[in-house]
Amino acid sequence: MVVGAGPNGLAAAIEVARHGFSVLVLERAPEPGGAARTEEATLPGFLHDTASAVYPLGAASPFFRALPLERYGLVWAHGRAPVAHALAPERAVLAHHHLDETARALGADGPVYRRLVDPFVRHWDRFVTHVLDAPARPPRAPLLMARFAGVGLRSARSLAARFRTPEARALLAGNAAHAALPLERGPGAAYGVVLLAAAHAVGWPVPRGGAGALTRALAAHLHALGGELRTGVEVTNLQQLPAARAVILDLSPRTVARLLEPRVGARAVRREARWPHGPGAYKVDWALDGPIPWLDPGCADAITVHVGGSFEEVAAAERAPFQGRAPDPPFLLLAQPSLFDTTRAPPGGHTAWAYAHVPNGWTGDLTEAVERRIETFAPGFRDRILARRVLTPSHLEAWNPNLVGGDPGGGLQTWARLFGPSRWGSRGWRTPLEHVYVCSAATPPGGGVHGMCGYHAARLALRRSFGVRATSLRTASRRAP
Ligand SMILES: Cc1cc2nc3c(=O)[nH]c(=O)nc-3n(C[C@H](O)[C@H](O)[C@H](O)COP(=O)(O)OP(=O)(O)OC[C@H]3O[C@@H](n4cnc5c(N)ncnc54)[C@H](O)[C@@H]3O)c2cc1C
Repeated sequence: MVVGAGPNGLAAAIEVARHGFSVLVLERAPEPGGAARTEEATLPGFLHDTASAVYPLGAASPFFRALPLERYGLVWAHGRAPVAHALAPERAVLAHHHLDETARALGADGPVYRRLVDPFVRHWDRFVTHVLDAPARPPRAPLLMARFAGVGLRSARSLAARFRTPEARALLAGNAAHAALPLERGPGAAYGVVLLAAAHAVGWPVPRGGAGALTRALAAHLHALGGELRTGVEVTNLQQLPAARAVILDLSPRTVARLLEPRVGARAVRREARWPHGPGAYKVDWALDGPIPWLDPGCADAITVHVGGSFEEVAAAERAPFQGRAPDPPFLLLAQPSLFDTTRAPPGGHTAWAYAHVPNGWTGDLTEAVERRIETFAPGFRDRILARRVLTPSHLEAWNPNLVGGDPGGGLQTWARLFGPSRWGSRGWRTPLEHVYVCSAATPPGGGVHGMCGYHAARLALRRSFGVRATSLRTASRRAP
């Protein structure tokens, strides 16, 4: 049994099914995908990713790469550059596909940037395997991982001290801000380094047709392996589940605690019940009658734009939620997929989304500040808006209860989560109940659409509950239908 059909639940179900066991997935929403779904949410023909959209970690995921998802319609769409940072109204800095081009554009900081990122780009497969695939095992590339710990355990501010130019400092800040931590707090730098290395190694693509296209491919593959998926079924207690040899929960720690408590008592679920959550996301989707009119045309080269400003501006915005207030101006993670995927909007039309980090569960209105911020770098943006959809933290949580208080990452990105002991054993996916496991983004290796939490939890279940030694990923790709 798998409860929850987010990317991790689907990944867990596929991993169990490909070992020949029957698997049933129960999903509360009317369709699978969790925070990887696409909806016609504003006007006819405009397709919006309700939550996640851009998948550097999805493209890098050793598990997704081993599955025949292209056979089920998955096509990655790339921008001309992976990511742009709007530094000043008329000045953007880009992470290009090629590290050399990026280093050249960074001028005086080019050699420093190259020294920082190059080892991880050059040894990308081994690196990403350790970041995403091997938290359950001790490091097999100790020098590379020691180097990563050396740069990643720090705060983004401490790492940025290596740079002299505002361009390099801002580029790092925007990438590190994905950690949803103050830039003064470790291990935020780790996110910056992983995402910048990913930009050069695999790019930051979107699935053609939207996030839902990845979900459809995963669900179709599960179906081909004999797995069953039922939507519209909310699991409120474990008794309601049909008998199963193992249960894997793609659920938030809070929901896991609620389900387990009647069986094991409040003490045993204390860790889950007190799970710390990070800032919430305040997100806006737009249907536009043209592309965003960026002053610096470099911003139109990338699907993802970090909006923006200097290192200090990003730092102030990311600090605000930890001081209990919304940022002003906000730092925005913006995606404009229709520039490179024409299926997203009717001819001439475009879609975009942006979100800012706000205090967890925040109930205020940030829409005007979000649009004003984009207007600074793209005057005339407001005139292009045909329709919008606003998703506050509470809208997001009502849509998908795993997004507690709007937290997009499955929990606060603490040092212990990224490098701590739960990364190195089976602890991360186990619960106090034998044969009941957790596979959501709250488990290692953490948030993002990569399916690796599901993959690891399923392998643990196969070993402990079925006595099966799971086969390797390479074997999986050859044996898959
Ligand atoms: C606004 C936003 C933007 C993001 N952008 C990106 C991005 O661009 N790139 C990226 O990689 N990641 C991004 N993320 C993060 C990413 O979406 C998540 O980390 C990822 O979806 C986690 O997958 P999951 O399977 O663990 O959980 P989820 O995707 O949350 O899926 C959990 C599923 O469980 C179901 N469920 C919950 N409770 C029950 C119940 N009681 N019974 C049955 N079913 C239940 C839910 O309906 C849901 O379908 C973003 C997240 C948000 C919110």
